[in-house]
Amino acid sequence: AQPVPNDIEISQSVTPLKITDLATKVGVQDNEVLPYGDTKAKIKLDVLDRLKDQTNGKYIVVTGISPTPLGEGKSTTTVGISQALGAHLNKQVFTCLRQPSMGPTFGIKGGAHGGGYSMVVPMDDFNLHMTGDIHAITAANNLMAAAIDTRMFHESTQKDGPLFQRLTPDNKFSKCMLQRLKKLSIDPSKAPNELTDEEKTAFARLDIDPSTIAWNRVSDVCDRYLREITIGQSKTEQGRTRTTSFDISVASEVMAILALCDNLQDMRARMGRITVAYDNKQRAVTAEDLGVAGAMTVLMRDAIMPTLMQTIEGTPVLVHAGPFANIAHGNSSIIADRIALKLAGANGYVLTEAGFGADMGMVKFFDIKCRTSGLKPDCVVLVASVRAIKFHAGEDLKKASSSEQIKQGSSNMIRHIENAGKFGVNVVVCLNKFKGDTDEEIAQVIQIARDAGAFDAVVSDHWAQGGKGAVDVSESIVKACEANEKQFTQLYDLQTSSISDKVNKICKDIFGASSVEFSQTALQQIERFESQGLDKLPICISKTQYSFSHDANLKGAPSGFVIPVREIRCYSGAGFLVPMLGEISTMPGLPTKPAYYDIDIDEDGKILGLF
Ligand code: ADP
Repeated sequence: AQPVPNDIEISQSVTPLKITDLATKVGVQDNEVLPYGDTKAKIKLDVLDRLKDQTNGKYIVVTGISPTPLGEGKSTTTVGISQALGAHLNKQVFTCLRQPSMGPTFGIKGGAHGGGYSMVVPMDDFNLHMTGDIHAITAANNLMAAAIDTRMFHESTQKDGPLFQRLTPDNKFSKCMLQRLKKLSIDPSKAPNELTDEEKTAFARLDIDPSTIAWNRVSDVCDRYLREITIGQSKTEQGRTRTTSFDISVASEVMAILALCDNLQDMRARMGRITVAYDNKQRAVTAEDLGVAGAMTVLMRDAIMPTLMQTIEGTPVLVHAGPFANIAHGNSSIIADRIALKLAGANGYVLTEAGFGADMGMVKFFDIKCRTSGLKPDCVVLVASVRAIKFHAGEDLKKASSSEQIKQGSSNMIRHIENAGKFGVNVVVCLNKFKGDTDEEIAQVIQIARDAGAFDAVVSDHWAQGGKGAVDVSESIVKACEANEKQFTQLYDLQTSSISDKVNKICKDIFGASSVEFSQTALQQIERFESQGLDKLPICISKTQYSFSHDANLKGAPSGFVIPVREIRCYSGAGFLVPMLGEISTMPGLPTKPAYYDIDIDEDGKILGLF
């Protein structure tokens, strides 16, 4: 066989369909498309109204076993299977992918367009800026950051009376302000000058306790020097300095909100609910209190629409949102999945990818995304590789026979298969074939997966062969969706389980822990969330993706370990609680030789070196 060229060469060797032609082909009407050049188009949410009575397609989540640091090919497999279904098996199919952060594109990991002959094209459009959604998120996030510090500045430099006057110069309350009046139980029919002095002070003073501010600035660059910074050093701020941080943009709660909201109104309500900080009486201060939630939503007006692109074999892809898989839920948007399910229709298929290993991405897909949307999955595709399975055998077995390594390392895959079964969904294992995998190794992994209760396990060669290489696994996926007689169930009930019950359930039933230890801080936070009525939110665990446990070194399927919960963060806008099991960096750094050394442009303006 011919060697597979570099991704960027493959991408540049094809001429994609004109995006408006693809839109028409997949059933989008002209007035529902907003083209951004010839290769990308936003799809308006109007399509959901028009197709509201259409039966949904089959809903398939693509996840993986606990990966090696190189990635085991979830994006590549998601694309490869779509190409097989759409271009070889003649099915209506949509792929829903996350928009990649540009940080890793120039850093260590490269893009997230798939790879080889299974990718989204043009891959440079996919990995660079796309339609600007991440910039919009950055702007919305940073507007609120500016609002927080500016408000604290004004509250500390102005007396209560003049502060209130300056907030209501035309003697009117804006829409945001009415929300604050409601919270303070002040009669909203009053004009500002009719408030008592006490009411004016209560309205104007947020009294944010700076030590509780939970909102960072963001940038879509891996920039480790922004992990801790001091702001306010210009003399105009009169010594009011503060230590804060930048996160990578995709870690912003605004990104998680985009991924979980239904429409602009729902996004607006969620923006308002974001907890920014606590005041000096320990009450939550929200984006609504700052009066900035409406403006943040306005900045997201275009970003709320998913972007239509295509695979190298011309099947449609909806790209939308890309929340950090760690402190957030790591899944693409509900809006994109809904549009795809309607456009695919009763006989069609939608593949959506969940980030990290299945203990994180798949569980959050079921627990947070499906719970929020009410959509029910029809099948799980679990991506495995011989490389990752051997990796899970651990260092001690490095010199053992290949078959011994596979036998031991498969414990990781087996637990993921069993976990998916706990949610009542059929699992098809897709063994992503890498060069050098032998027939014996492949046969052994497949047998183990079938014995562990997978609906089927099939090898797939889509990276080297495109959709043709994924026909067999796709046929099994079709059968698994048809045979979906199981009942989709959740791991815990939101209303009746306490925060600690929910965390225990995930840690014990999914990760294999023997117990959970909450720090003093975490226990106090639980009490606070309970008193705020936030204890009914689903749980989004933040931990390493390299192990079922909180310790990346525990390979395979560890058990009997105690999980420490250091703190619990509250994403009241997105709608989940995040127990932190370890130190998680929300701002990656760059390696000594980052990808940008190879990225350049030639005399004709062609991009070189993206991968
Ligand atoms: P994930 O989504 O699980 O992080 P990706 O699909 O992005 O993984 O793949 C990670 C990297 O591995 C990409 O550079 C991709 O091109 C490459 N890759 C994936 N599958 C194969 C394969 N079968 N053979 C060779 N390289 C592969």
